[in-house]
Amino acid sequence: MNIIFGPVQSRRFGTSLGVDLSPKIKQCNYDCLYCELEGKKADKQMQEILEPKLILDEIQRSLQRFKGLNSITITANGEPTLYPHLYELMLKLEDIKGDLQTLLLTNGSTLYDPCIARACLLFDKVKFSLDAISQDVFKKIDRPHKELDLNKILKGIYTFAGDFKGELYAEILFVKNVNDSIEEIHKMAQFLAPLPLKRLDISPIDRPPAYKVTSPSPEDFKQFKLIFERFNIPTFIPERKDNKENSTHNNIHLSQEEILKTLNLRPMSLEDVELLWDLQTQKTLKELIASKKVSIKTVGNTSFYWKT
Ligand code: SF4
Repeated sequence: MNIIFGPVQSRRFGTSLGVDLSPKIKQCNYDCLYCELEGKKADKQMQEILEPKLILDEIQRSLQRFKGLNSITITANGEPTLYPHLYELMLKLEDIKGDLQTLLLTNGSTLYDPCIARACLLFDKVKFSLDAISQDVFKKIDRPHKELDLNKILKGIYTFAGDFKGELYAEILFVKNVNDSIEEIHKMAQFLAPLPLKRLDISPIDRPPAYKVTSPSPEDFKQFKLIFERFNIPTFIPERKDNKENSTHNNIHLSQEEILKTLNLRPMSLEDVELLWDLQTQKTLKELIASKKVSIKTVGNTSFYWKT
């Protein structure tokens, strides 16, 4: 089972072993316009549920195999906090992870639930996404499950932020003509300003999206950044840049199956592949391109390897 992917080079968290809590199918309570996975109707909960032991065994094997890691990222082919055994998984992960940091990437929609929040409190770093404050914009961009209540979600983020002892990050992904009005940006800034954020990333669409949407222009992003900074929010526009300092210097070896799994979950830029994967893996990738199992797509100024 393809639970582990990568390691991948994150723009901000270094070289990270990816753990997919939903390896068979996408299971998410949103169906975001910009999702890098295929579009799919939002789910209320996970249907396909892995045993924690299976996940922990896979992590342990990978920790022995890959060196030079900075962190373990818990994510999913969808929303990882829908995984019902997250608390148990995190408690047991503590025993095997050594000094690696744990990072959760969540859409933030379930933090209002005390059972889920107590699992999220066990992470070193939590990065949640927030794409809108207004109901209509939220529905348009995130296409949430019909039972999700935005007010409850926003309150949940506040409560969690008050309890969390680790590093808290937020990300807003902007889609042109959807959540990029000055009014909506002001609302988001007002909401985020009181939170103890280590950083807010305001991001363009970075990877090929599920639906036909585009990002605002780089000039627009500079304006957005100024607005957030006026609210004293430490705001960054992540850029694809030289990751050489953090990279494991192309020593990662992956099988054909592992390459496909990684690209399915996380299309990799040409630059990242060159930095992270060893020459044999890059050769296998070329064979996958020749057999049309992998293709190259360009988003903005960046080209990605993408599972066809
Ligand atoms: S972007 Fe994240 S939250 Fe949105 S649909 Fe995709 S997996 Fe779910």
